[in-house]
Amino acid sequence: MRALRLQEWKSEPELVELPDPVPGPGQVVVRIGGAGACHSDLHLMHDFGAGAVPWGPPFTLGHENAGWVHAVGDGVTSVAVGQPVAVYGAWGCGACPRCRLGMETYCGNPAAAPVPAGGGGLGLDGGMADYQLVPDARLVVPLPDGLDPVRAAPLTDAGLTPYHAIRRSWSKLTPESTAVVIGAGGLGHVAIQILKATTAARIVTVDTDPAALTLAEACGSDTMVRAGDSAAGEIRAATGGRGAEVVLDFVGADATLALGVATVRTLGDLTIVGIAGGTVPVSFFSVPYEVSIQTTYWGSLPELAEVLDLGARGLVEPRVVTFGLDDAVSAYRQLREAKVHGRAVIVP
Ligand SMILES: [Zn+2]
Ligand SMILES: [Zn+2]
Repeated sequence: MRALRLQEWKSEPELVELPDPVPGPGQVVVRIGGAGACHSDLHLMHDFGAGAVPWGPPFTLGHENAGWVHAVGDGVTSVAVGQPVAVYGAWGCGACPRCRLGMETYCGNPAAAPVPAGGGGLGLDGGMADYQLVPDARLVVPLPDGLDPVRAAPLTDAGLTPYHAIRRSWSKLTPESTAVVIGAGGLGHVAIQILKATTAARIVTVDTDPAALTLAEACGSDTMVRAGDSAAGEIRAATGGRGAEVVLDFVGADATLALGVATVRTLGDLTIVGIAGGTVPVSFFSVPYEVSIQTTYWGSLPELAEVLDLGARGLVEPRVVTFGLDDAVSAYRQLREAKVHGRAVIVP
């Protein structure tokens, strides 16, 4: 089969031929229908080096995958050959208390996981290939009726990650509240739809790119703000001067975090989802009272089922741009040059 491999750190991936995977006991092989190209893969290719994470190349990229069950190993009864499924991408030990809650992102026993603190496309082979080996049947989630793999694939990360971030702030997203979305890219434009589908908050979206703000408006954002010196004032004005109950930063740079602190309201949440690695000073005087600042990472297995339900009902539909596997390297180049509006999905 064909597979897009990251062969070494600080390099572009290569399309190579590999043997078709064969499932062992309890395992599933998925014929890939869609594999999302994530901005974090660019960090894997260009920024990471030895020691940054407890795993390394070579491995097949793609941690945002859906397809059809192609083959199952001995003992697998939860899915059948031909069934459409999404792949939950964070692979924990499956047995610790957190994994039993489906929160394998924060597995308590990573040494017992297939790879510590990784998954398919993150240390082990991912879905930018004709087939993907999934090490345990619990990690594939059947697609609800009405959802095909190309539309489901981005929901497993570009959908699941903002869903998890928004869900933990649900109690603050009351009808008179405001949510600010910073960055309307692959995750941010889906975040707007999730806010719209699951809360009654007013939505303000900030981006540097006018095309991203046009997409934000199409996704249901109430107010669009161009990033820049006047952005904080415009956001505060949109909240009647009070500030926003929840700020979701899908960039995570110094400037966007400063904007978050300047616009979040007392008792609010400032949630850092983007991995640009910026910092923000926190002191008694620098942040409004009782603001919680947190990072989030991906989401849980039960949350994936919830996001797929939103997708099947048409309430959340990532904007998808498809590329063939032969064009995957080009897709990542376009992503790096900020030429992709919505989510690039590789369709082998
Ligand atoms: Zn990702
Ligand atoms: Zn675990």
